[in-house]
Amino acid sequence: IFDVSKPWLNRVIERLPKAMLTAVSDVSFDVEERTVYSLVGESGSGKSTIGKMAVGLLKPTDGSVLINDIDLSRETDGGKLDKARSDIQMIFQDPYASLNPRWRVREIINEPVSARGGNVVGLAEKLLEQVGLSSLDADKFPHEFSGGQRQRICIARALASEPKLIVCDEPTSALDVSVQAQVLNLMSDLQENLGLTYLFISHDLTVVQHISDKIGVLYLGRLVEEATPDELFENPKHPYSQMLLAAAPKMDGFGREIDPPQGEIPDPINPPTGCAFHPRCPIATAKCSAERPEMRVVRGARVACHLAE
Ligand code: SF4
Ligand code: MG
Repeated sequence: IFDVSKPWLNRVIERLPKAMLTAVSDVSFDVEERTVYSLVGESGSGKSTIGKMAVGLLKPTDGSVLINDIDLSRETDGGKLDKARSDIQMIFQDPYASLNPRWRVREIINEPVSARGGNVVGLAEKLLEQVGLSSLDADKFPHEFSGGQRQRICIARALASEPKLIVCDEPTSALDVSVQAQVLNLMSDLQENLGLTYLFISHDLTVVQHISDKIGVLYLGRLVEEATPDELFENPKHPYSQMLLAAAPKMDGFGREIDPPQGEIPDPINPPTGCAFHPRCPIATAKCSAERPEMRVVRGARVACHLAE
């Protein structure tokens, strides 16, 4: 994989001895319109890679990313590709880095629309009010706002082109704990009121519990379980999901870090054989290190574990 947003990194990678790092493999899931699909996993699980592929910042070496019927990774018709891309927006973890400090808020919010020649009269003002800021804020610069307010500006910018899908990559994890819940509630309200579709990426199960319609748990670049939040929290079927839930704070857990489950995350360049979770799994058997479990339906969830029953 090459990350087009980090050219310097690509130059470094090109000079390294060639080792294959498979960041994501065999991951397949559907995000239905007007729902929230959350991907959860530790760092290195491949969740951000999937998010970048969903917006076209990364190209998969195999497989496809379909937005309605357009394959983002293969479409060659520039017009169609441009239309598909305008249907997707991304909200990043760090609201400080993703706002141009020299632009006024109005220009920042209007940019996705004005760049395509659309009408922006009154747009920034309307969107600022929609995200709980004031229309008067349109004339200010990013440095005049707090972290939570800046993330609201990023959300307003993401809404400007009326996207079908918004990829939210840890949108609250850089914020103070006290404002994380506010921003999350805003995003949840907007999703319901505007009929938006989110692909929501987080390392923290408790953050996504209440906003998700479906949760996919990733481990070392593979989906190991997919279920509704109720199903996952009441009856997690994969030992890794059970481990994540056991590590999650039980009380009003907004925004708190999950303690890393026991054991190290294995080296992704030399992933364990069979089920990649077997070195950390408390119930692993001989079959687990020999044979990779396929994803299959077990009592209303999709699970990749030999012993899911
Ligand atoms: Fe554990 Fe085996 Fe299931 Fe993997 S397949 S999660 S090692 S029981
Ligand atoms: Mg990430």
